[in-house]
Amino acid sequence: MHKFLFVDLDDTLFHSLPKCAADDVLQPIAFLEDGAPVSYTNARQRAFLAMASAGMTLIPTTARTHGAMGRVDYPFASYRIIDFGGVILAPDGTPDPVWHARMRDDMATALPGLRQALAMCDEYVQRAGLAARPRLVDDLGLPFYVLLKDPHKVAACLDAIEQEAVLPWLAGEGRDFCLHRNGNNLAILPQVLNKARAVEYLQARLRDEHGDIMTFGMGDSRSDARFMAACDYAIVPRGTQLAALTTEAL
Ligand SMILES: [Mg+2]
Repeated sequence: MHKFLFVDLDDTLFHSLPKCAADDVLQPIAFLEDGAPVSYTNARQRAFLAMASAGMTLIPTTARTHGAMGRVDYPFASYRIIDFGGVILAPDGTPDPVWHARMRDDMATALPGLRQALAMCDEYVQRAGLAARPRLVDDLGLPFYVLLKDPHKVAACLDAIEQEAVLPWLAGEGRDFCLHRNGNNLAILPQVLNKARAVEYLQARLRDEHGDIMTFGMGDSRSDARFMAACDYAIVPRGTQLAALTTEAL
């Protein structure tokens, strides 16, 4: 039976430097546009990657855009789910045309709400004098989500806008949207844009190709739980947001 690991990347398979321990033996694995390393694996993460890739086909399931995915230095050889599930890349690197057409329709429907979310965030940021600059993240010709990061990486700077602007908007006009918040990432996504939907689509495709399959899901964020629940088994790294809500909480 073919085994597939749908796996989030950032904070699941590797970390940015501030999250690495002082005695870790680090190797760079992901890079910025200027070529500078931005994320690293420690020895345990490298051993996990070696073990997993020996027994399973790894399918990255990430919020990374096409460009940022290309700056991860690991030989993923199968499908790749990027943009929070907005794009599925085939093994040859081209977007799955059926999925792309479906998301083009869905994102066209979502675009007015995304613009409203962006305007709502812009208005709050200017009024409150925040340094963060909200932006609409698009990729491969499609708009996907509104992203807000504090430029000084002080995650707490995003708490007020989340509580006072984003959550009230989601409870009213933005009811077709949802929040992804983990550390210094605050993203407002259309509900139709989610990793679980892309994973379920791809699982059906993989069953057509391979017959019965076994699937594993692995991620660090609350927002990863849905796609992990769509798999036969779930793997949660210790010390993550999702572990704090599940295994460590219990
Ligand atoms: Mg992650």
